[in-house]
Order: sequence, then C-alpha cells, then structure tokens
Amino acid sequence: MPTPNYAFFRGRVVPYSEAKVGVMTHALNYGTAVFGGLRGYWNSDEQQLFVFRPLDHFRRFLQSAQLLLMEFPYTAEQLADATMELLRTEDYHTDCYVRPLGFYGDELIGVRLHNLHPELSIVSVPFGRYVSNEEGAHVTISSWRRVDDNSIPARGKLAGSYVNSAFAKSDAERAGFDEALVLNQDGHISEGSAENFFMIRNGVVHTPPVTDNILEGITRRTVISLLREELGLEVVERSIDRTEVYLADEAFFSGTGVQIAAIIKVDHRPVGSGKMGPVVSELRDLYFNVVRGKVQKYRHWCAPVYEAEREPAR
Ligand code: PMP
Repeated sequence: MPTPNYAFFRGRVVPYSEAKVGVMTHALNYGTAVFGGLRGYWNSDEQQLFVFRPLDHFRRFLQSAQLLLMEFPYTAEQLADATMELLRTEDYHTDCYVRPLGFYGDELIGVRLHNLHPELSIVSVPFGRYVSNEEGAHVTISSWRRVDDNSIPARGKLAGSYVNSAFAKSDAERAGFDEALVLNQDGHISEGSAENFFMIRNGVVHTPPVTDNILEGITRRTVISLLREELGLEVVERSIDRTEVYLADEAFFSGTGVQIAAIIKVDHRPVGSGKMGPVVSELRDLYFNVVRGKVQKYRHWCAPVYEAEREPAR
C-alpha cells in the first residue's frame, strides 16, 4: 500500500515524514485511540473527487472520542474542511481512503483515560478494494465473540477493540475464508470484522440493531435508506440468530472499505442460490452510482474536493 505524502497533524498539513510519535505514546501502549475511515471517489466525467458523507463520519469520530473522554478543539465541519485541504494538497485524481486518528499522545506509564492530551492526525492513501471477493464472499462464523458494550463499546471506533476484529479476521483468512461473521456474547449475529451485516429472508431485509454490539455504520445507514426509498423494501433492525443466516435468501456486508459485498456462502453452506442475488446486485449498482455523485437525489452526501470548473462567461 502506498504511503501518504502529507498528513494533517497538530493543526496543519505537513509532510507525512513529520507526523511522528514516540514509542512511549499512550495510545500505542494501551490502545487509547479512536479512528475513522472515509472514502473519496473519483468521478472522471466531472473530473471531481467526492468524499462520501464526511460530516456524518466526523460526527461519529467525535462521538467515539467522547467515549474515551477526548476533547478536541474541532467541529465535524472543521475536520471535514481539514480533510478537503489535505486531499487538495495530495492532489489525488483517483479513489482514495481517508483515515482520521485521535489518540492520547502522552508518553507516560499509567492506564487511564483522564488527565491525558489527545492528538489528531488525518492521512489519505489511494485505495481500491478492501476485500478481494466483493461479488461473492465465503464467510465463516468466528469462534471469537464480539466485544461487549460493557467491556469495550463496539459502538465507537476505538483502536484497542480492533484486536478483537483482528483475531476474527486472521483466523477466517487463514482457514481459507474471505471474512468472519462474529457473534455477540448472547450468540446473536453482530457484524463482520470491519463491516455491518444484512440478510434478506422472504423479501424482508434484516440487520442487527445498534444494541447488539455493532459499530453504527454510516454505510449501514446509507443502505437502509436506499433499500427503503429506492428498492421499496422493508428493513427490520432486530437480533438475528446464527441459523437464520443459513436459511437466508441473500446476505451482504456493508462498510466504507468493503462497500457492498455479497455473501454467497457461510461455512460451506450456500446462501440462497449460492450466487449474488437480485437485491444485492441492484443495491450495489445503485450504491456505486450514489457514492460517485451520479444520483442527484443523494448528491448532498458527496462533498466535492476541488472547486468546480466555472461556467464559461456569457
Ligand atoms: N463495523 C466495524 C467493526 C467497522 O470497523 C466498520 C468500518 N468502519 C463498519 C462496521 C462499517 O462502518 P462504516 O459503514 O461507517 O464504514
């Protein structure tokens, strides 16, 4: 993966080589950091880079920070502006990924969340696919359980909790699967290692509720709107049993990285026909048009990075 050329660090855009921390850094030792993940989509017809739902992403980022008692002197709008400045400096004319990180930068020994000093960085790299098999993922039910709200809240994007995701992802990949489906403490489906889960049974879409130890995904929210408003489907947020997935007609993951990935097999059991189904197929086509700014109704979700070409003067 290419490294960034620049970073937004300590309040300004600097060369990436200047965005450095020491090995004593609190966040590096104790996982006391929060992060975000946004995508920029290049629209070649318009010669424009669109960042998808930046304000929603930065609002969630600041809420994750709030969970760790981090206070930043920035609003979501200011962080979105900083991202735009960073991307213009990088001058990307390609799809990219944006990674904001808030972390306790203190170099000291002592586990706690209070009396520490939060720091903030934003970087971006060119980015394509996150999972290789977006059209037909084979997933496994992980033997790892999702972190619980009373242990490390999955609702926030807290760096330390991604050890839980990493356990699930590595075991799944090393066993030959594309991704893991993780159960929560009471045995219901929570989500993938870094993506939300949906399934379709008898024409109704189901997804776990935000109280089942999931990240409150921005793509999840996007997908729920598109399924209801554009595909005219009922979407129900409720706990999902493991064996309901075995009997689903279609299933998919949603997330900034994974976008919309069809799940076609679970532990060698075909989901529905064992091929990407009609709902997932239609949703993917729609989603890719929406994120690239090609659907006027949802254009407000797409923030342009570059100034639009001026209309020629008449
Ligand atoms: N769940 C987890 C654990 C994640 O890391 C992600 C990726 N951010 C998601 C779900 C999807 O969230 P979003 O749609 O906001 O990218």
